[in-house]
Amino acid sequence: MTKKLLLSSVFGPFGVDDAFGHKENLMELFHNQVTKAQGIASLRFHHRSFGLYFLAENVRAPVTVLDFPSRNDFERELKRQRYDAVGISFIVPNFLKAKEMARLVRQHQPEAQILLGGHGAAIEGIENLIDCDHVVRGEGIRWLRQYLGEDPHAPIHHPTLISAEHKRLFGIPTPGACGLLVPGVGCVNGCRFCATSHFFGRTYTPFFASGHALFEQLCRMSNELGTQEFFVMDENFLKDKTRAQELLSCMEENHRPFSFAVFSSAETIEAFGVENLARLGVFFLWIGAESKHETYDKNKGRNLQALIRNLRDHGIAVLVSGILFLEHHRPDTISQDIDYLIDLQGVFTQFMMFTPLPGTQLYKQYKRQNRIDFDLPFEQWHGQHLLNFHHPHFTRAQATQWLQEAFQQEFDRNSSSVYRMTETYLRGYETLASLGNRDPWLRHRSHQMLDRAQELRILLPTLRHFAHDELERARINTLEARFDATLGSLDPTSRALQLAAFGIANAHALRCRFRRDLDQPRFSRTRYRWPSPMHRWQQSLESLAAGLRKPSEQPIG
Ligand code: SF4
Repeated sequence: MTKKLLLSSVFGPFGVDDAFGHKENLMELFHNQVTKAQGIASLRFHHRSFGLYFLAENVRAPVTVLDFPSRNDFERELKRQRYDAVGISFIVPNFLKAKEMARLVRQHQPEAQILLGGHGAAIEGIENLIDCDHVVRGEGIRWLRQYLGEDPHAPIHHPTLISAEHKRLFGIPTPGACGLLVPGVGCVNGCRFCATSHFFGRTYTPFFASGHALFEQLCRMSNELGTQEFFVMDENFLKDKTRAQELLSCMEENHRPFSFAVFSSAETIEAFGVENLARLGVFFLWIGAESKHETYDKNKGRNLQALIRNLRDHGIAVLVSGILFLEHHRPDTISQDIDYLIDLQGVFTQFMMFTPLPGTQLYKQYKRQNRIDFDLPFEQWHGQHLLNFHHPHFTRAQATQWLQEAFQQEFDRNSSSVYRMTETYLRGYETLASLGNRDPWLRHRSHQMLDRAQELRILLPTLRHFAHDELERARINTLEARFDATLGSLDPTSRALQLAAFGIANAHALRCRFRRDLDQPRFSRTRYRWPSPMHRWQQSLESLAAGLRKPSEQPIG
């Protein structure tokens, strides 16, 4: 008999102090760990729990996906529908929530099997800490197909998903949808702290092995979503240069100029070439700089500052990721690394606490050395508040203070990320327009860059009004003058939009004075392959009719 499956992310609310979590663990990527010091200028958006939709899309069984339910929503679902298995996806800081959900499953549906997945499944001995039947580590689609008795090697169906939702800047909803593309999972580099690389066994599993296959998926999803922009959720999409190059050729041959936000590393960017990235349509890039003194192979011998400047010259908004509280950091030397990361002049900077996470090489090493602070509950193992290991030179309180100051200094010196992003897109337009004189494809890319710059230009009066300080205000004035000189003054419609944006931002700022600007991800319930009520009626009438037939009338076989 076909198994019925419930797949769920952990329950909210998030970012609050309660029995299951802490206020420091927000469910917003940028506001949690990138633009957190930038107040009202912080970038706000939510992501869905993409893995659950991939799993649901790639099996034949009836599946219900609950994404960001409340505890009550989850319990209500367990009371409403019988399931054969309930899958719970969680990360380490949500350990207590997963545990509570498993308890609720046993209480309401004792016959259902409990499947634990996500990065939280890497916690050592998780099977003894949370009541469950299976722990799924690594790529989950093949595992789930096998569990259901289906073909694990059937082709992957890519679900059509929006990458970020409820996007806001200064409380203003930002236009345009960006789709999600997942070419594959894992990374072969195996940096010692990297949970993702280790979770997937330091291998890369492509979902789509060729550029042609990716192009087909992009065309389909672009038509369905009405967008040309995609966030590429792949640890190092450009590492397979042949595939990326083939995708670019398909796009050029078919005049489909998709644009991408990607993760990459310095070695790969250099191999692919910055101008080639602009051809591909990359407009955002996340790069791990990590630390000036602890050099990983991906960064060895490379001038990251020059590379990042070149990327921004081509209209690519770079997010620089760095690690604090490495072994060589001391109170008198950590500021060198903070300065180094700030001086790389990314559009965004992420500072992460060095965190030995379960499953990583670092975790094994620190556990052997008895350095992990197991007194710190898992809810705090997220790298944005407290160290989860004993650092010889920093107390917990000192580390928290240093982290806050790093974000603050970055904001003080480089101004808001929105300002930097606007400046980058204008700069990119100028570069690509000049390259486009001899290359129609790059000319088209320059027009796309122009649209991005003009969209953000609408926010300049708002940015100036809420400027962090005089330095940022002066930078915004200079940028506005550059816009006027390059593109002329704004038309009346754009001026009206500027006024509207300014009004919304002021209303939002006023609201934020009276309550915490905490936004919870929206709950969604999605059903896959459940028979419709009409179909169920038909089935029961058919079985009733079959029961009334004489034995000789029963279908044979
Ligand atoms: S390159 Fe990035 S994704 Fe790959 S192992 Fe290193 S940190 Fe992880």
